[in-house]
Amino acid sequence: MKKALVTGGCGGIGEAVCRRLASDGYFVYVNYAHSKEKAEKLAKEIHGQALCFDVSDISAVKKAIATVERLDLLVNNAGISEIDLFTSISPDKADEILNINLKGAMNCTRTVLPGMINAKSGNIINISSMWGQCGASCEVDYSASKAGLIGFTKALAKEVAPSGIRVNCVAPGFIMTEMNKHFSKEDLELIKEDIPIGYFGKPSHIADAVVFLASDQAEYITGQILGVNGGMVI
Ligand code: NAP
Repeated sequence: MKKALVTGGCGGIGEAVCRRLASDGYFVYVNYAHSKEKAEKLAKEIHGQALCFDVSDISAVKKAIATVERLDLLVNNAGISEIDLFTSISPDKADEILNINLKGAMNCTRTVLPGMINAKSGNIINISSMWGQCGASCEVDYSASKAGLIGFTKALAKEVAPSGIRVNCVAPGFIMTEMNKHFSKEDLELIKEDIPIGYFGKPSHIADAVVFLASDQAEYITGQILGVNGGMVI
């Protein structure tokens, strides 16, 4: 049975990814940092296992991943966002965004890779954002962290392709999850007008992209950034 670890596995997008992978036959480790009850409930439903660690804490990452069997797939999905002017975001908050969104993915990947290299196979999928591709005003630290994930994907893909490992990235557009719950009805209407396809994305759209990139149908695809954004960024 193939094994996958999804960081932030019981958030809006993470849950859809975990469910989709489980229905495709994966044993899924559902990572969480705070949402214990939610992660355990989901893990039980999909016959997987909840795994607690903060992705930004390398020793916690190592300790937790040492307890799991070799992984076939790592989905670096954990992330936080903060909307404010660049000059208003405190240095501590900026560090937190980079440490979770970018360094968190690097911590998990660094820990999981030796097993994949030994096995000469594996898949890593990073969840970036369309803002990492084109930049968002009032989300400068977030955009930088997500742009970092794109550079990380491309460089690592070249480095580990000879070891049989593929590294790809999904760059979601505006997906309806907790992360976007703070927008007012009026703001949401304005945002929707900028989406050529005419409606907001669903977590399942991202799960479909992840499952495709992890599949053998994508065996010749590595180092790519797959935008799933209804045409908002082309
Ligand atoms: P969400 O519902 O808020 O979920 C975020 C997840 O990240 C939660 O499961 C949370 O787990 C986890 N997390 C946060 N800090 C963590 C840490 N230090 N260690 C481990 N896990 C941590 O948001 P979402 O919309 O599903 O976002 C998932 C990913 O998609 C993020 O990387 C986000 O940037 C990206 N994305 C989202 C959108 C969108 O429109 N929704 C667009 C582009 C990109 P706990 O609750 O346990 O802390």
